[in-house]
Amino acid sequence: MIQYTDMKLTETLLIDDEDEPPSPKEVVESLTAEPHNFLFLLKKPVHKVAGALRSKRTARSSDKTRLFRRTHFSDVADKQWNDWHWQINNRIRTPEHLGRILNLSKAERDAVEFSGAKLPLGITPYFASLLAADDPDQPLRRTVVPTVREFVTLPCEANDPLGEEHQSPVPGLVHRYPDRVLFLLLDFCSTYCRYCTRSRVVGHGALHAGRARLEKAIDYIRRTPTVRDVLLSGGDPLTLNDERLEWVLMRLREIPHVEVIRIGTKVPVVLPQRITPSLVRMLRRYHPLWMSIHFTHPEECTPEVYRSCGMLADAGIPLGSQTVLLKGINDSVQTMQSLVHHLMKMRVRPYYLYQCDPISGSGHFRTPVEKGLEIIQGLRGFTTGYAVPTYVIDAPGGGGKIPLMPDYIQGRDNDTLLLKNYENKVFGYPDPAPRPSTCCQDNCLE
Ligand code: SF4
Repeated sequence: MIQYTDMKLTETLLIDDEDEPPSPKEVVESLTAEPHNFLFLLKKPVHKVAGALRSKRTARSSDKTRLFRRTHFSDVADKQWNDWHWQINNRIRTPEHLGRILNLSKAERDAVEFSGAKLPLGITPYFASLLAADDPDQPLRRTVVPTVREFVTLPCEANDPLGEEHQSPVPGLVHRYPDRVLFLLLDFCSTYCRYCTRSRVVGHGALHAGRARLEKAIDYIRRTPTVRDVLLSGGDPLTLNDERLEWVLMRLREIPHVEVIRIGTKVPVVLPQRITPSLVRMLRRYHPLWMSIHFTHPEECTPEVYRSCGMLADAGIPLGSQTVLLKGINDSVQTMQSLVHHLMKMRVRPYYLYQCDPISGSGHFRTPVEKGLEIIQGLRGFTTGYAVPTYVIDAPGGGGKIPLMPDYIQGRDNDTLLLKNYENKVFGYPDPAPRPSTCCQDNCLE
């Protein structure tokens, strides 16, 4: 078992006041008051001055988080609050603790008090600060607070709808596509999402990041030369400490045919304090390293999250987002547009929009597929092309991701293909229709 209480309390995310860069106002004042300061600034690399100005433009945390801290953690110093170990050790895990923070509805109270839940309750104090105390329908609250509806399993649902167990050559490693593997490092997350695709595994305490199991998985990758891409997931890989995560990265980098390593994580969103200078310094040693960050809603895009993504992007890690389409949470064009615009500003490329998997107890989260198509249609043409994710269904039974697109082809007019644009206007494109062959002779020279 990983003992978080044993971890060293060495790193904090936020810089100390004395390390703060000068504010734009201070810079202007110093330029006008003392000309020699201007020369001093010119000697600084331009990117440092620009970075300083950018960093000062963003607040350290939102009003919501500050109010929450004053109300529920008034005796906790900044140093503790900004320490990811403290955040993990002080997660909200019991009905009593949750009830002190939120006015629970009956459906929520019955769910958290029921001991047979598939997925444990776990919410970092930071993420709890973003939840609405009096509104059980608030989107972020619905993503992490259980309700009795998650105990209702529909006939179409399953514990392992993607058939991952059948594609696991060694425990904790899924080999579905020929050239890449999914490597589940542990089953722990700092905050549990109620719609988790791996709720059959996650939070059960059965998949440990122990050396023996990890060695077996690494050995499989070493013996399988077709694997060029390893996706580290879980649970959340970034809840491992730097040393253990580096050990895995180092072992994978020793394998010549592993070209790319990717990390799938929600930590920058629910535990942004984890993104420390020492973590990003370590990660950048293992390039090419990519990261897929699980975002759900624009309200997750706080100053802390902007900062955590900024640090990762500054370390040269290409960032993409993965978002599950969830009923009543993010299933509107307006909400999704707001989210992707935040992501673009954070240098996170909106990557996948997932149709919610038919996991047991997820019926209240699933939307019709039409809704996903409507959202993509509402984004394409109305925002930057980079900001439009690919909408996919992960095919039940292990068929892999299948992309879905609104149909822009309207038909043909002889040699002209008729296409509908984002404003529903029809345009023709010259595209000679395939001609049936007139030849039927084997010896024909046509
Ligand atoms: S962070 Fe990922 S693995 Fe963890 S509970 Fe959420 S969806 Fe599941």
